[in-house]
Amino acid sequence: MSAPVPRTVYLDNNATTAVAPEVFEAMVPFLTEHYGNPSSSYDLAKHSGAAVTQARERIAALIHCDPREIVFTSCGTESDNTAIWSALRTTGKKHIVTTQVEHSAIHHFGEALEHQGYSITWLPVRNDGTLDPAEVADAIHDDTAIVSAMWANNETGVLFPVEEIASICKKKGVLFHTDAVQVPGKVPIDLQKVGADFLALSGHKLHAPKGIGVLYIRQGTKYAPFLIGGSQERERRAGTENVPYIVGLGRAAELAAENLIDEQTLTRARRDRLENELARLIPGTHLNGHRTERLPNTSSLWFEGVEAEAILIGLNRHGIAASSGSACTTGSLAPSHVLTAMGLSPAQARSTIRLSLSHLTTDAEIDYALGVFPALIAELRAAMPKSLSPAR
Ligand code: PLP
Repeated sequence: MSAPVPRTVYLDNNATTAVAPEVFEAMVPFLTEHYGNPSSSYDLAKHSGAAVTQARERIAALIHCDPREIVFTSCGTESDNTAIWSALRTTGKKHIVTTQVEHSAIHHFGEALEHQGYSITWLPVRNDGTLDPAEVADAIHDDTAIVSAMWANNETGVLFPVEEIASICKKKGVLFHTDAVQVPGKVPIDLQKVGADFLALSGHKLHAPKGIGVLYIRQGTKYAPFLIGGSQERERRAGTENVPYIVGLGRAAELAAENLIDEQTLTRARRDRLENELARLIPGTHLNGHRTERLPNTSSLWFEGVEAEAILIGLNRHGIAASSGSACTTGSLAPSHVLTAMGLSPAQARSTIRLSLSHLTTDAEIDYALGVFPALIAELRAAMPKSLSPAR
């Protein structure tokens, strides 16, 4: 018999989250007895239709909007692509304003659009990862279809001033989309205050399954669908609804609202303890991003003289899951576009790891990680050839 696999100390909640037991429980009946297609007219189907309606209401309650403004999609990426695509189609304009630090769901889609002849202004960020809203105002011109700026960065957790950006866009008569995939359950989302026209969410970042997303479309916003076919989602997104996952996301939205205070107090305190202790115990540890204008669960740290990939392999050996600030592209390790946009050198970016907690992270897990890190970093530094180790 093989040895039992120890529970992973999971510090990668910005990559994905564990499905909450309550979410799983809510989904099961819709994978078994309640399998009707919500578009059918018999009782079995009505049950599915009612569950989708309830989930829509629950998500609307979390983000303070009208349930009719919620469209279910397959993921955050689809929601992001759709918002931009719709703006280009409905306005007929050819220019997009976005930032240099967006997730690839916007970043790579924008690059693909550039190849098709659209023009993009990629706004820079300050060294602490924050965005100056005046840059947004300056970049908008007559041919601008949409501004897309993320609410919270997935690598650093840095928050953008979305309320201010939305009001600039409104004054200039330009659509505004925000990728809020990393936000729910960590920071309140109030669409009565933030006047965005579009907003993207993704289930698997808030303890629902992977493969379900939301696109919020403000009532009255001109809209052109990305997927065309059946009349689901009031003709805004064709394709039979993924009822079990929609139900799961609805339940996850309720839990996100309930856990918000814990995330902002307990999770923040655990994150801060981890971060401060690492800085105290390991010389040459640096925080990336604004210290306070940041999600309460995220810590992006770079360690002098060590490659992030080596740290991650070492952490994995000790049963700790985390990720690096680097994106692996075609076999070569490219430094993160987010970190280099913030002024980090490629070497500093390659020495960065991201630790992201959730309300499920325990004090014991933080203690365990704090026990592992100092010896691991010392071991890796000692193994580094003197000629390669950077000057302190
Ligand atoms: N936007 C941000 C900020 C993200 O962090 C992610 C996922 O990592 C996405 C978009 C894409 O979401 P999905 O994986 O549901 O396509």
